[in-house]
Amino acid sequence: IPIIRAQTSPDFVPDAKFYKVEAILRPWRIQQVSSALLKMGIRGVTVSDVRGFGAQGGLTERQAGSEFSEDTFVAKVKMEIVVSKDQVEGVIAKIIEEARTGEIGDGKIFLTPISDVIRVRTGERGEKAERMMGGHADMSSALSTS
Ligand code: ATP
Ligand code: GLN
Repeated sequence: IPIIRAQTSPDFVPDAKFYKVEAILRPWRIQQVSSALLKMGIRGVTVSDVRGFGAQGGLTERQAGSEFSEDTFVAKVKMEIVVSKDQVEGVIAKIIEEARTGEIGDGKIFLTPISDVIRVRTGERGEKAERMMGGHADMSSALSTS
């Protein structure tokens, strides 16, 4: 008997061509993460300064030079990266490799299917809009044609 899931059910996970990898990370690891992503051809990244609490709770960062929160929230950076489906696992692995210390407060990664990408300058949609000049897809097609 096939299981029919309504789109309104929390069990329904739409399949998508693109996904948003949203990572909440330690601010002082962001430079390391973004340069590693750039090296693998991930050129479209958005970061925001955020504050939050998780298992780390209101404990302030112990590392020198980082922000100390006056209240119960800890300063974090949210990194949002929209990539094609085949890049998702590579990006997640790279973020973990570069951001992990093994201590409480390393952060969390959320994955969301994205229904479309639109480039404002050209009006392009889908794959054309998601591809970045000199990005990962360009790098791999250059390798396969040379
Ligand atoms: P254009 O060719 O018109 O410059 P583009 O695709 O290079 O378009 P930008 O207009 O340079 O995109 O991007 C504007 C901002 O959008 C970037 O600074 C970044 O914050 C965000 N951004 C772009 N692509 C992505 C992506 N794939 N994932 C997350 N953020 C992105
Ligand atoms: N998928 C794009 C490419 O291969 C890169 C996406 C990104 O940089 N976030 O060009």
